[in-house]
Amino acid sequence: MHNVFPKCEICGLIPYFGLYDGLRLGKKFICSQCEKQILQTKAQDPQYQVNVQNIKRIIYC
Ligand SMILES: [Zn+2]
Repeated sequence: MHNVFPKCEICGLIPYFGLYDGLRLGKKFICSQCEKQILQTKAQDPQYQVNVQNIKRIIYC
């Protein structure tokens, strides 16, 4: 038995609505909660750099 639900690369959770509850980046996945958090974070916020690092890690690893 294999899992059809994607796991979020940032928070590590499986979104309730599966693939439709988030954003796909290539083979990786970001849940809608993390996507929202990323979109709402301003560039001056220290969290912004954390988000950038997370996204780079997802895209380039
Ligand atoms: Zn997430």
